[in-house]
Amino acid sequence: MIIDNEQLKQLGNYVVTQMQRVGCDNTLFFTEKWLAEHHVKNAPAVVELLEENGGFCDCEVLFNAMDCLLEDEDENPSTKMYQLTLDRIHEEKNRLN
Ligand SMILES: [Zn+2]
Repeated sequence: MIIDNEQLKQLGNYVVTQMQRVGCDNTLFFTEKWLAEHHVKNAPAVVELLEENGGFCDCEVLFNAMDCLLEDEDENPSTKMYQLTLDRIHEEKNRLN
């Protein structure tokens, strides 16, 4: 694995915070920022992995990629949290549209 579960969760926690704060701009801006700031080796490979799992922007990383990549976790509380947070973000988006 090019990135371990612990790092993935930290990335998820960071991205979910940013999604709550500013929302998704349809890029991997915050994902890539986190990878750069944490000096993750093979950041491009991590991005590729996220994209292979449906994460083409920050919110999709939480929605799709985290779900796939963390699914072997026993309880998986973080993805449930992402789900709840993102449901809220999407409701908000729909309300504004
Ligand atoms: Zn998005």
